[in-house]
Amino acid sequence: MTRIYLSAPDVGEVEQRYVLAAMRSGWIAPLGPDVDAFEAELAARVGVAHGVALSSGTAALHLGLLGLGAGPGTVVVTATLTFVATANAIVYTGAEPYFVDSDPTTGNLHPGLLRQALARLTGAGERVAAIVPVDLLGKAADYAAIDRVAAEYGVPVLADAAESLGAHFSGRAVGSLGAASIVSFNGNKMMTTSGGGMLLTDDAALAARSRSLSTQARLPVTHYEHAEVGYNYRMSNLLAALGRGQLTRLDGMLARRRRIRETYRRLFAGLPGVRIFGGENDADDNCWLTAVLVHPDTAGWSAEELGASLRALDIETRPLWKPMHLQPVYAGARRLLNGNAQRLFETGLALPSGSALRAAEVERVAAAVHDFVTVYS
Ligand SMILES: *Cc1c(COP(=O)(O)O)cnc(C)c1O
Repeated sequence: MTRIYLSAPDVGEVEQRYVLAAMRSGWIAPLGPDVDAFEAELAARVGVAHGVALSSGTAALHLGLLGLGAGPGTVVVTATLTFVATANAIVYTGAEPYFVDSDPTTGNLHPGLLRQALARLTGAGERVAAIVPVDLLGKAADYAAIDRVAAEYGVPVLADAAESLGAHFSGRAVGSLGAASIVSFNGNKMMTTSGGGMLLTDDAALAARSRSLSTQARLPVTHYEHAEVGYNYRMSNLLAALGRGQLTRLDGMLARRRRIRETYRRLFAGLPGVRIFGGENDADDNCWLTAVLVHPDTAGWSAEELGASLRALDIETRPLWKPMHLQPVYAGARRLLNGNAQRLFETGLALPSGSALRAAEVERVAAAVHDFVTVYS
């Protein structure tokens, strides 16, 4: 039997056509019309004026943070429950990451704790350059509450929407929230360019500066002139073509992940001690990954045991992100905790959720879960 992955790339003939057309057009190295078109198409889709296509979501975070003024002597407040890229990008700028704990239902940045963190930091005279909420597993953070705190303290919001493309908050598309947003097109994300990311914003100056920094900050003259240190972070034209192909299929891929979520909801419904992570409302969620939360005393089994049992059948699962404040690399970082992130990490398990999963594969996962649960209950 073939291995079932958590979230494998979902690419096919449409993407092949786009990439082949780009190759045949001669626009191989590295910029070209597909980069411009991809930026315009995704920016239009989420409803912002500018997109800057980059080599990764991490690069987008790095440049977005630089653009908002993060640097030595500043602090950036972010969610402790995230992938390490969020924290690393803060450190790249020279700023200090400050980790804030989670809402118990969604795992996203807790607005009340965020307010406390800002009160402490600004009260002590520290400069907070940005707030970086993370839309965990594809559910948007509470941007209404976060924006209120941000406005109160005059700090801009950079939304880490790496996992949440296609999701909404209060009728607004993810990618249009905050001063700027970043998305990721890594191979395991909602849609892929094999590797890539984009900075999305209405701020023309921020977009222009990010674009410049992403191409070695080369000034627009024929000889090579540079007034500051830049990076080689631009997305290549071939990968942008792949992204354009994926974008034409985004709605279908969203629908597929949503149906997989529904299957898991039915599968776990009525089982004691286990529920689908993220609350009951899937309408605004892109359903990137479906995870369960297991209370072992009630369920009679743990998330870890379910994961091990599926792993033995070549079915990939993964705990939720290990919180940053528990990572050795960030052992010394400041944090404001309520225990929720650690609890979610210890009780959560993400299940195969990719839009490339075929019906028979979803059935194989469901049967394996069913067998496991039957033995333990
Ligand atoms: C994937 C991810 C990133 C980084 O994106 P890359 O394209 O892999 O660099 C950043 N933040 C979060 C929350 C992610 O899940």
